[in-house]
Amino acid sequence: MLFFRREGTITLSNKITAKERLQINRQRMPEQDATARAANFQEVNLGFGEQLAMLEAQRCLQCREAKCIAGCPVMVDIPRFINYVAEGNFAAAAENLLRDNALPAVTGRVCPQETQCEARCVRGQKGAPVAIGYLERFVADWARHNEGSIVTTHAPRMGRKIAIVGSGPAGLTAAGELVRVGHSVTIYEALHKPGGVLVYGIPEFRLPKKIVHDEVQRLKKTGVKIECNVIIGRTYTLQDLRQRFDAVFIANGAGLPVFMNVPGENLKGVYSANEYLTRVNLMEAYDFPKTDTPVLAGRRVATIGGGNVAMDAARTAKRVGAEQSSIGYRRTRAEMPARAEEIHHAEQEGIAFEFLVAPLEVLGNAQRWVTGLKCRRMRLGEPDESGRRSPVPIPGSEFVIECDLVIVAIGSRANPLLTATCPELKLNKWGNIEVDASGMTSLPGVFAGGDIVRGAATVILAMGDGKRAARTIDVYLKRG
Ligand code: FAD
Ligand code: SF4
Ligand code: SF4
Repeated sequence: MLFFRREGTITLSNKITAKERLQINRQRMPEQDATARAANFQEVNLGFGEQLAMLEAQRCLQCREAKCIAGCPVMVDIPRFINYVAEGNFAAAAENLLRDNALPAVTGRVCPQETQCEARCVRGQKGAPVAIGYLERFVADWARHNEGSIVTTHAPRMGRKIAIVGSGPAGLTAAGELVRVGHSVTIYEALHKPGGVLVYGIPEFRLPKKIVHDEVQRLKKTGVKIECNVIIGRTYTLQDLRQRFDAVFIANGAGLPVFMNVPGENLKGVYSANEYLTRVNLMEAYDFPKTDTPVLAGRRVATIGGGNVAMDAARTAKRVGAEQSSIGYRRTRAEMPARAEEIHHAEQEGIAFEFLVAPLEVLGNAQRWVTGLKCRRMRLGEPDESGRRSPVPIPGSEFVIECDLVIVAIGSRANPLLTATCPELKLNKWGNIEVDASGMTSLPGVFAGGDIVRGAATVILAMGDGKRAARTIDVYLKRG
């Protein structure tokens, strides 16, 4: 049965024409009220119900040449799974989606759809694109609650063993793909919980940890083994893994924070976003002293940066109890790399934005506690190599943001722990592992992908690397 909505009322209909599809407006994601949610850690977006999902799915024109697929790094067959949603056949939608995407409940929530699949949707040329991410989230959540209704197939085990370093999206995706084609996979994870940034970085209110846990459990049921608290480069070397396994996939991310390099950065009350978010998310510092790890709450918190990490840190600070939480960014809103939805949600929650500012010095009192952040105003100059206009300092424009906590969210880079113990592994000038077109490193049988290769990027690009590496590893092992 199909739904068709005219002017707010839902009418049931068995057939729907392209013209009628075009008349349906994009459905809005139900969300928690902004004031209420700024004081809790529950998920902001509440998800589509069945009727809303079926209605949105009917907006898809089922294009013969579906451009949206090319915008997805893991090549989800978008029109196919959406067609099943439109028909109300959620089990078939889930089976199809899970064949292409190992973590759909995650990507449905955190993918930058506006620059990936939805950017290519033809409906976006005259109006709003199909809400592919929201539909993906709906199907993935349906699958989590109706696991028994979904049929998944696996090839028989063929006795080849692969080690994966890191259990973030790149490692988990590669593991899922390799197990599916019959290999045995062990993931080694340095932290005590699997998930990478999905558990220690992205906050509960955007990506509940239960969802990451469920996705990891689903992979474990398919045969993926995960050993936590194992640091490759300390507990075992890469050489150990090469001796014990037929191939290795390195997906250890880019978890080393970059600092501002300004005076006062070592005062008490300066956190890297990485440490701040790890304390709150992974170590549940918001529940201290019931949990072991404390975090400085801060009354006036200034976060520096313009990406998802900065949005997450500033919104978390508000939830932890800050009266004022602001974000300083050296370009304008238009250049911010964060997901559009996160910037919008941050604004709704009362996060203040200072655009075109750059930090000069962290100011402190005699006890070395932070009292403010001295900044300088900027203007946009000529475009740099990335094509974005560069910020240029305005002389004499210094001013102070009064604050007692500063969170630095200006990027992260490769952690040298693993690479330093393996000098034969070729790196680029930023310390990222170099790979060839197939994803193989300078060491035969050792592949790499995700942030350790790209530098800090996105979940779906890391997953795309994981999927590609799995295919190449499979071919490499079968050909000997
Ligand atoms: P990671 O997720 O970093 O996982 C690497 C894993 O390897 C970690 O678990 C780490 O503990 C482990 N590890 C490291 N060294 C070793 C070792 N020597 N031995 C064993 N294990 C090791 N992207 C989006 O698309 N959308 C978003 O909304 C978004 N929000 C973000 C918010 C935050 C706060 C952060 C920090 C990032 C965000 N990103 C977002 C970026 C995205 O999360 C990353 O690009 C992605 O997680 C990279 O995946 P990965 O698998 O390469 O690495
Ligand atoms: Fe779009 Fe991301 Fe889903 Fe691919 S995984 S279809 S890019 S939301
Ligand atoms: Fe549907 Fe848009 Fe993809 Fe066409 S481009 S198949 S309308 S999601």
